[in-house]
Amino acid sequence: MPAPAGRTATPDGDGTRTDTHCPYCALQCGMTLTPAADVAPREFPANRGGLCQKGWTSASLLDSPARLTTPLVRTGGELRPASWDTALDVIAARLTELQAAHGNDAVAVFGGGGLTNEKAYLLGKFARVALGTSQIDYNGRFCMSSAAAAGLRAFGVDRGLPFPMTDLAGADVIVLVGSNPAETMPPFLQHLQGAAAAGGLVVIDPRRTPTAEQANVHLAPAPGTDLALALGVLHATVAEGLLDEAYVAERTAGFDAMWRTVARYWPEHVERITGVSAADQRALSRRLAGARSAFVLTARGAEQHATGVDTVSAWINLALAHGLPGRAGSGYGCLTGQGNGQGGREHGQKADQLPGYRKLDDPAAREHVAGVWGIAPESLPAPGRSAFELLDALGQPEGPKAMLVFGSNVVVSAPRSQRVAERLAALDFLVTADLVLSETAAMADVVLPVTQWAEEDGTMTNLEGRVLLRRKAIDPPDGVRSDLDVLAGLAERFGQPAGRFPVDAEEIFTELRAASAGGVADYSGVTYDRLRAGEALHWPVPAVDHPGTPRLFLEAFAHADGRARFVAVDHTGPAEPPDAEFPLQATTGRLLQHYQSGAQTRAVPELAEAAAEACIEVHPDTAARAGLGVGDVATVESRRGAVTGRVRCVASMRPDVVFVPFHFPGGQRANLITNPALDPTSRMPEFKVCAARLVPADAEPSATQPEAVTQQKPVTQQKPVTQQASVELQKSVTQQASGTQQASGTQQKSVEQRETGGAS
Ligand code: SF4
Repeated sequence: MPAPAGRTATPDGDGTRTDTHCPYCALQCGMTLTPAADVAPREFPANRGGLCQKGWTSASLLDSPARLTTPLVRTGGELRPASWDTALDVIAARLTELQAAHGNDAVAVFGGGGLTNEKAYLLGKFARVALGTSQIDYNGRFCMSSAAAAGLRAFGVDRGLPFPMTDLAGADVIVLVGSNPAETMPPFLQHLQGAAAAGGLVVIDPRRTPTAEQANVHLAPAPGTDLALALGVLHATVAEGLLDEAYVAERTAGFDAMWRTVARYWPEHVERITGVSAADQRALSRRLAGARSAFVLTARGAEQHATGVDTVSAWINLALAHGLPGRAGSGYGCLTGQGNGQGGREHGQKADQLPGYRKLDDPAAREHVAGVWGIAPESLPAPGRSAFELLDALGQPEGPKAMLVFGSNVVVSAPRSQRVAERLAALDFLVTADLVLSETAAMADVVLPVTQWAEEDGTMTNLEGRVLLRRKAIDPPDGVRSDLDVLAGLAERFGQPAGRFPVDAEEIFTELRAASAGGVADYSGVTYDRLRAGEALHWPVPAVDHPGTPRLFLEAFAHADGRARFVAVDHTGPAEPPDAEFPLQATTGRLLQHYQSGAQTRAVPELAEAAAEACIEVHPDTAARAGLGVGDVATVESRRGAVTGRVRCVASMRPDVVFVPFHFPGGQRANLITNPALDPTSRMPEFKVCAARLVPADAEPSATQPEAVTQQKPVTQQKPVTQQASVELQKSVTQQASGTQQASGTQQKSVEQRETGGAS
């Protein structure tokens, strides 16, 4: 991955570089940064000197014209520049007023899987101690929570990869389920080369993705049927005498109960459900049984279903049947997505959780954490609503009246996003802390401009549970503060004692270590000094002289009896199967150039130019049946809404599937159509499949209108802004702040743009 034109790698050893990590995905590639913000890849086990386009261009956002540098407070219907004191005073006054009228749970907090460990920790503490609210959750609920729940019930501990990712290089078989690292984290492909060279790289995905193109074997089950596929392969394993019986007897429990379900899923039956041939199922079973070293890895494609936890459990069952987890050189793992998807789910921003992966409803956990925080255990709130349920409750009679959003753009990233926008508009008060005027920030009453990765210290925990130090490399722009400063400033206004909410990242991490001590994710032995010295510390690290735990489960699993659990799971299929009215299945995912909702990467010119708009990927025959050709503008409709994009014909697509990327705003929001049916355990929505139909964008509305069309409600400042509108607003705000232009005219222009700012 060479440096793009105009951006050069910084030579080593000049004494001015800062070693850090990429701000985006969970691979957390090592990179260096100069004071002039030149990025260079750094030799690090995760990326081995490689970066993807997103990493190479990540510094562009540091001085982007879209960057917010002034707090904004909505007055007279418009966002206007304000001082920090004014903005924080307004927030404190409104939240206090709403809590006095409606109780503590009238205020909600929404976090993100990209926040550092320190921010995630302080956010959870702020919600429970300063606000006293139970209403906190985060966008990781949309990302990794199904694998987390499945890992917990199988192994007793959830850590994405319970082994260093460098172990993958020695494997002769790797099965990737619902993962497309060639686009989401390209440097990770280096770890798959050994298996590919041995002819054992297997990709399971309804689409022939760039990753599937590189695989030795690509199996393409119908969307929502990968659970059944795992059952079929497991059935073949047992039927052909390939079960690792010694491992099952010595290291597992629950096989018999699990088999009673699997016995009904012989490969020919599964072929009819999934479309994957019985021969291919048996071949995969034999491939796993014959491997010297094998891994099964799942990702969002397996997880983002209303049966996501069971789907991941089915693949874990298969790995257990072949004796992989807890065996050196083999295993099961989940490929985490967001930058701090792992650490973000460990330290307290989840609705049911306290730091150290402790449970909020566990009396011993409450006592321990309350002791660290200097409060009474009984003052800690009970567990609150999960992410989508929280968003859906906003502004309802029993729901929160105000919300603070840190590091998340829910208007684009949450399922059924038109409904989410309506719920946000129904709030009495919305606050966001963000780098740019994201689609969610554009709806807020107060917007706080905050620092980003290179401008602050903080730790991240990558997909293998390794704690990393991301160091400050450059000063932030004038006017910008860190999220930690914001929380401290608000805590003070809520009457919290001085020092209870520190602003120094290392000081907060020291407190986090104490809060996590003795927990599942025990960070007590991790120190900034050890990280500065370059130690590779995978949690748990229970003492400062402990070397960390790169490989979990080698001796025993984390259940009391030391055994892993087979879990009996059954195939039920998608929550919304296709029918005569909506005959296709829509699935969503990422493009190489963009990250999550695109709020950051759409502001990077190289990335925005390379992928400027949403595409709609379909088989050529599917496009032709809808009267569409390559480059035509088309609409994918579901019962919840419609998303628009430009047709891209892909001959390898299943004819019953349509793919839409989820990085774009306005009418190109893939989540206008997604189904918010929730997994009963993880509460993860079913992003990966819903019933849909494809029509030309200018087609007459058909008899059954999508819900978002028939039930559209007015939304205050409703239309999401384009990135250009964000730049214009920031320009106008800067001009107002510097007194170079009258506010009203310029600001009015930006608002007009916002109101016409659909991206289609
Ligand atoms: S986005 Fe992910 S894969 Fe790309 S450079 Fe950043 S951390 Fe590495």
